[in-house]
Amino acid sequence: QVNFNQKMDYVFKIVLIGDSAVGKSQLLARFSRNKFSLDSKATIGVEFQTKTFVIDYKTIKAQSWDTAGQNEAQWAMLVYDITKRQSFDHIAKWLEELREHADSNIVIMLVGNKSDLGTLRAVSSKDAKKFAQKENLFSMETSALESTNVESAFFSVRTEIYRIVS
Ligand code: GDP
Ligand code: MG
Repeated sequence: QVNFNQKMDYVFKIVLIGDSAVGKSQLLARFSRNKFSLDSKATIGVEFQTKTFVIDYKTIKAQSWDTAGQNEAQWAMLVYDITKRQSFDHIAKWLEELREHADSNIVIMLVGNKSDLGTLRAVSSKDAKKFAQKENLFSMETSALESTNVESAFFSVRTEIYRIVS
């Protein structure tokens, strides 16, 4: 149980899962360093980031993995590219794998990235919302390039984790 008079550190692990090139690394880069790169290379192995969140009296260190460590993660972002239908169609598979291997209390958010490329959209917001609702996931569209909703997506972790630990 959490004692609110005590300053506590929590380490929360976040994993980003999804097809290659949907923008997992750039979402992390934007969130943790406010950086973005157009010629980002595919991640090999584990991408690891640490971000400290402050929740009232508590300090939370959120460690983010780009692709690995899902069995220990408390939070997962299932990322697809709104311009690549296939990356959305694969989400069900990623979700299945996640539910099989991750902690049963894991909080999962569906993230449609590259919302700046609206003219090339291949996945409607409606389809995404419908899927998220059916699977009981949070959902959001982001742009790592334009910095749209990136903070919101990561900071909703804070709200949800606060609910869980308090
Ligand atoms: P990952 O394989 O999922 O980690 O994908 P990356 O983060 O490496 O991104 C793949 C490519 O998509 C790179 O060329 C990025 O610059 C680009 N990219 C990532 N996020 C966005 C975005 O929000 N908008 C646009 N237009 N391109 C993006
Ligand atoms: Mg990557």
